[in-house]
Amino acid sequence: MAECIFCKIVRKELPSNIVLENEQFLAFHDINPKAPVHILIIPKEHFDSFQEVTPSTMEGITPFIQEVAKVLGVDSSGYRLITNIGENGGQEVKHLHFHLLGGAKLKWEHLADSNPKANL
Ligand code: 5GP
Ligand code: ZN
Repeated sequence: MAECIFCKIVRKELPSNIVLENEQFLAFHDINPKAPVHILIIPKEHFDSFQEVTPSTMEGITPFIQEVAKVLGVDSSGYRLITNIGENGGQEVKHLHFHLLGGAKLKWEHLADSNPKANL
């Protein structure tokens, strides 16, 4: 995925503000933060989205994400983990990433324009 911006960040062809890195995973600050703590956590291997990721990658990324939360000091105060998938999910960058958001009480409101109770 030569043109993928997150693959370029992995290869250090594009700069990023790195929080934590190991052989398989990378965590860096979102360029346009939506909360006082807003980190993007990615596997270095390219997957288009969560829909394509392997169970072994998910197994590996779990302790990595938990460690990122500790490094940022939000492991006790709490945080939100989000991955957007595809068009309706609002995914803009087509390289699997988890948003780790925290550092303040987060809002939880209507997420869709259509009636959220339509399928009840
Ligand atoms: P998505 O909408 O795909 O779930 O989220 C993509 C996220 O990547 C957005 O929050 C956006 O601010 C962030 N982003 C896009 N380009 C860059 C970049 O070049 N560097 C960094 N650090 N974040 C980026
Ligand atoms: Zn990529």
